[in-house]
Amino acid sequence: MKITKVETWQVEMKLKEPYTIAYETIDSAVNIFLRIETSKGITGFGVSAPDLQITGETPLSVLEVFENTIKPALIGSYALRSALIISKLKSHLQSHPSALAMVDMALYDILGKTAGLPVYQLLGGYRDRIMTSVTIGIMPLNETINKAKQFVDQGFKALKIKGGKKFQTDIERVLKVREAVGKKVELRFDANQGYTVEETLKFVEAVHSARIELIEQPTPRAAPDMLGRVTENVNIPVMADESIMNLRDTFKLARRDLMDMVNVKLMKVGGINEALQVNAVAHAANLEVMVGCMDEAALSIAAGLHFALARSNVAYADLDGHLDLINDPSDGAVILKNGVLFPTGAPGLGFDPEL
Ligand code: MG
Repeated sequence: MKITKVETWQVEMKLKEPYTIAYETIDSAVNIFLRIETSKGITGFGVSAPDLQITGETPLSVLEVFENTIKPALIGSYALRSALIISKLKSHLQSHPSALAMVDMALYDILGKTAGLPVYQLLGGYRDRIMTSVTIGIMPLNETINKAKQFVDQGFKALKIKGGKKFQTDIERVLKVREAVGKKVELRFDANQGYTVEETLKFVEAVHSARIELIEQPTPRAAPDMLGRVTENVNIPVMADESIMNLRDTFKLARRDLMDMVNVKLMKVGGINEALQVNAVAHAANLEVMVGCMDEAALSIAAGLHFALARSNVAYADLDGHLDLINDPSDGAVILKNGVLFPTGAPGLGFDPEL
């Protein structure tokens, strides 16, 4: 089964509500959709969600690398030899991880459709659903509380509170949210690199009574030793996100015990294939994994979901990047019920977007 045609579409999706994290405010997302056609009539779809701050890519750089590198490599290749295709592309796409992820997803989609199985079943099918957290951006105290209540009313059982700008304010927000939502809701906190080690230690101590489940990337990405100092000194799990961009980072931080958990995002590591390897390193180091996401269409959220469902130690999901998007061509690629995400059950990634 050879690849006969490949095409991309750029899609700009506005957010219903802009949100703020420690280093930026976001009000829309531009994703690139990929369609791969094969000689057997099976078609695969993938998505790239470039993010200059995180993946170092722009929509334009994804489209350029697609035309110059990806397209020539794909046309005429055997669609089921994804390991060969990905390994050929990888050396050229080191600094284009979301572009690589887009190709990887489409090839998994084709593999699943050829087998007649959803990707997560093809990969082992450890579970068939997973609870996801939903994100509360940085906002004033009252809005934070209202947002938290609103999400709990919608059925979410895990909230990820963003912070990292002012730790004193963050402490109050976390304590008040706990008061407002009661004991049964899980609270996660993401400082997006905004704290020093000392601030993180003070924060964790001050929110002790709110029993947060984990703290994500409190310190700057390029200073993994700071993350290590936090990990050594707090009694809640510390998760690396921005500090882990690929397999090598994961190994480096894991071998030095600088974190307790890893946030794996397909867009930063380069797709399902690489995520499985990052996960294996994390597993070997006895680290738990959360699957995370960028502001991305439901189809790539589905790819992250299939990865998470397939592996036992991917015990946490933060797959909410699609929830607020307007005009997502792949709306419906995952099913959300009371804060729990399900795949559609159809073969491959489970959804063909209309483009
Ligand atoms: Mg994060």
